Amino acid sequence: MVEIRGVDKWYSTFQVLKGCSLSVARGEVVVVCGPSGSGKSTLIKCVNALEPVNTGEVLIEGTSITDGKASLSKLRARVGMVFQHFELFPHMSVLENLCIGQEKVLKRKSEEARDKAMGLLARVGMTAHAGKYPLQLSGGQQQRIAIARALAMDPIAMLFDEPTSALDPEMITEVLDVMVSLAQEGMTMMVVTHEMGFARKVADRVVFMDRGEIVEDTPKARFFEDPQSDRAKAFLSKIL
Ligand code: ATP
Ligand code: MG
Repeated sequence: MVEIRGVDKWYSTFQVLKGCSLSVARGEVVVVCGPSGSGKSTLIKCVNALEPVNTGEVLIEGTSITDGKASLSKLRARVGMVFQHFELFPHMSVLENLCIGQEKVLKRKSEEARDKAMGLLARVGMTAHAGKYPLQLSGGQQQRIAIARALAMDPIAMLFDEPTSALDPEMITEVLDVMVSLAQEGMTMMVVTHEMGFARKVADRVVFMDRGEIVEDTPKARFFEDPQSDRAKAFLSKIL
């Protein structure tokens, strides 16, 4: 489904990713963690071609997105991305936020887009807020809308970059609950998060990054019970 092969990336003279390889199979949930500045956001952005790679390649369903031939707007429609800051369109209502991509990119008729949007709003518990604007909502509500907006595009995989780290503690659970149910329904997910409760519950594998390298890529149980590297041990001892 998602295949990252030997990716190196530099920001001018600074090498931010070093020989990163990772694959996420259909229906798999992979949690990516590691210290600040280790390259987690950069890695996930490379999967959505928000950042180009210098060497190596990224394949989505067997098609390279790094060879310059891929249609990036089609790719981005198929791989949903949810960021730390919700990045909804502030001048559009919740319903409009959920419809715009469906109509512009997928060419859905407005009625069909609306039906899809209302179904997703019900799913994330936001039906009553369809007519509101993003700034009238709490952070947790905005983030649930951002997830629904990504899902409206019928993505084949979802990428999350610290979706709860800008939220007040009482709002984290409502967002994680939506993510847990997505995972349990079989969505392919790559999730940068330090919410180890989420990782324990639904991750298949945990990837630990440090200084641009993938240091560990292990089944969840082993990562928590018996991390292999000293760097992962030190990291876990700080966050658990
Ligand atoms: P955090 O946990 O703080 O979000 P991260 O693991 O997501 O960190 P990245 O955001 O991928 O880390 O950044 C990795 C390194 O690359 C950092 O040292 C950062 O300063 C640097 N970096 C990130 N984006 C850029 C950029 N656009 N230009 C130059 N350097 C960058
Ligand atoms: Mg980051």
